[in-house]
Amino acid sequence: MTNNPLIEVNNLKKYFPVSNDTFLKAVDGISFSIKRGETLGLVGESGCGKSTVGRLITQLYDLTDGEIVYEGQNLHKLPTKEKEFEYRKKIQMIFQDPYSSLNPRMTVMEVISEGLVIHQPKLSKKEKEQEVRRLLELVGLNEKHMHRYPHEFSGGQRQRVGIARALAVKPEFIVADEPIAALDVSIQAQIVNILIELQKEQDLTYLFIAHDLSMVKYISDRIMVMYLGKIVEVADSEELYENPLHPYTEALLSAIPLPNPRLERAREQIILKGDVPSPIDLPSGCRFRTRCPKVMDVCAKVEPEFREIREGHYAACHLQNEGEISV
Ligand code: SF4
Repeated sequence: MTNNPLIEVNNLKKYFPVSNDTFLKAVDGISFSIKRGETLGLVGESGCGKSTVGRLITQLYDLTDGEIVYEGQNLHKLPTKEKEFEYRKKIQMIFQDPYSSLNPRMTVMEVISEGLVIHQPKLSKKEKEQEVRRLLELVGLNEKHMHRYPHEFSGGQRQRVGIARALAVKPEFIVADEPIAALDVSIQAQIVNILIELQKEQDLTYLFIAHDLSMVKYISDRIMVMYLGKIVEVADSEELYENPLHPYTEALLSAIPLPNPRLERAREQIILKGDVPSPIDLPSGCRFRTRCPKVMDVCAKVEPEFREIREGHYAACHLQNEGEISV
């Protein structure tokens, strides 16, 4: 991993119009960077805006405000179609549901070679077959799988095909949008291990999106926690699991089942009250206050600042500012 950021996201916003004067604020002013070779985990409940972040980075969505800078180039202000094409190739996405993201009428050979055809149109039939075979081997499949259809595979195998398809264009950066959420727990570790191996072999950088903290630790160098369109905490993986600073992160961590049955019986899960508020009608002050077990008076009045509490460990919570705020 290098110290230079491969990608920098500055004050990113994505508002979806609901009516003339109402917006759904899916992503509401977030900033972060990812170093080359790093894996950044992005975690939050469904509807928190994390998949929207992935879709903004892969340019599937236009942004409302802010910028996404990749190797010094603003992705949403690329000067030519050629440049757009070049960056689309560098940044690929692996989707949550491998079944719905694979065309059921196409064989694995056709699915994977689709990207090859677009990005390397001069490949002969034989070269294409060789390349598809190589990609299948990279993800633990083989040439016997080449001429089969998606429905002939298990969920884990389909996700392997999805990964091979993403690799076909030789990307540098992959947004993995909940790639293991639809898989059995026994298969999840296999897919995570494949992604870790590929990262080493292919020098890849990942944004790994997940809805809970159970598997993210194994793949992520740093983890970023999102709630209702905002980042509430970021830290190195180990640090986040050992010393969470935000009550929302504490609740997510308490939900992870423990493998030791004795510890699992003693585990005290923090059950959050109520539902996630609507991103159309956000709470005042801290957005987490309607569900926070540690809420204080100040939380409804002042939005907590997202700031560095310890070296490399950032959080947005008034508990970290005690004694500094008076309202
Ligand atoms: Fe809870 Fe207040 Fe911290 Fe928000 S700012 S997480 S409501 S204690």
